[in-house]
Amino acid sequence: MYDLIIRNRKLNKMKVLLVVLIVILIILIILTSVRMVKMYEVSKTINEYNIWLDKFNKEKAKKEEAEANRFNPLTENELTQISNIYKSQDGKRVFLTFDDGPSTSVTPYILDLLKQENIKATFFVLGVKAEANPDVLKREYEEGHFIGNHGYSHKYKEIYSSSQAVLDEYNKANQIIRDAIGNQNYNSLVFRFPGGSSGGPYHDLKQQAKELLKQNGIASLDWNALTNDAAGASSKEKIMQSFYDTVEEKNSVVLLMHDAADKILTYECLPEMIKYFRDNGYTFQNLYDVIGR
Ligand SMILES: [Zn+2]
Repeated sequence: MYDLIIRNRKLNKMKVLLVVLIVILIILIILTSVRMVKMYEVSKTINEYNIWLDKFNKEKAKKEEAEANRFNPLTENELTQISNIYKSQDGKRVFLTFDDGPSTSVTPYILDLLKQENIKATFFVLGVKAEANPDVLKREYEEGHFIGNHGYSHKYKEIYSSSQAVLDEYNKANQIIRDAIGNQNYNSLVFRFPGGSSGGPYHDLKQQAKELLKQNGIASLDWNALTNDAAGASSKEKIMQSFYDTVEEKNSVVLLMHDAADKILTYECLPEMIKYFRDNGYTFQNLYDVIGR
């Protein structure tokens, strides 16, 4: 009898021990599992971070490459895109272009208005004016407008003395732009011939110069609508008449205007022109949108 009690006690002790062991084992399994889950989560986070870092670095490299290539000579395809600018697009678009500046008496007012209206325009600047008013030019650039090139002198006898003279004036104006904006990589890429790229006594020479510019990756651009602000329109009414007559029903408008020192009337007409384009469903673009850089 006593033996049996002793045996039962031993058995009970064994049972308790077994239960304790099982409990310890379960706790160990739980702790190990929790640790494994945690480790998995940490490695997952590290993995996700590495993927993000890789993507970030790739995008950064891409941006740096685009910035470095931004001022490379235009490619054949980009030159074609500029020469096709008047072809009708899916939607309506307008390029506001200003020649013969920058000036201190008109350009800042135009820049204020463009800023207020959130419009990016294109300025074909003259080297001789950029040299005189570098701060205004710098502002144009910093506010996201396209800085095109209108040569240095605007003196037909000088610039149209040879096709090389056209390229030389382009380069001279280009260097002045670089110095003014503080970016020695800058290349204006698009040239607007003083007086337009065809017709007149220098027509043949202009065609040769156009080819020479092209060979150097530089496009040239005229216009298909104008305010006549440089050639006789002496009142707001006349400017607006020329504007409406030439804009007509065009889907892709390249509008010629001037921001030279005496062109305050152009500035005064701008709000009405902007309103017309907005009311008629045009989007405002500049040449960066065409080149795609
Ligand atoms: Zn001009």
